[in-house]
Amino acid sequence: MTDQIKRAIDISKEHCTEHPLFYLGKIMEELGEFSEAVLVEQGHMPRKVLNEDSFGEAADVINCVCAALVAVWPNMSETEIREKLESELSRKNDKFIAIYDGTYEEKYGGK
Ligand SMILES: [Mg+2]
Repeated sequence: MTDQIKRAIDISKEHCTEHPLFYLGKIMEELGEFSEAVLVEQGHMPRKVLNEDSFGEAADVINCVCAALVAVWPNMSETEIREKLESELSRKNDKFIAIYDGTYEEKYGGK
């Protein structure tokens, strides 16, 4: 996945020139499409026909987040953005694991 995040950031750096608010709006749009795909796949909207499944829509969300980071931080290089994002993913995943293995309070206190 990190190769594809790198690719999404590289493509965004090269092609995405819109204002950051544009990409924030696109994140919301794609998040709505992801939510709708999940609802349809779970049988909550039986008459709705999907153009794309929830995995495709999740990928759209991730690509839009990469584009937004590039737009919000125009002076950061592709490498800096990718390394910071990967570092934060690692840190957040460690916290997520700690919640489920019962070590959260010990490792993070009340934070
Ligand atoms: Mg979409």
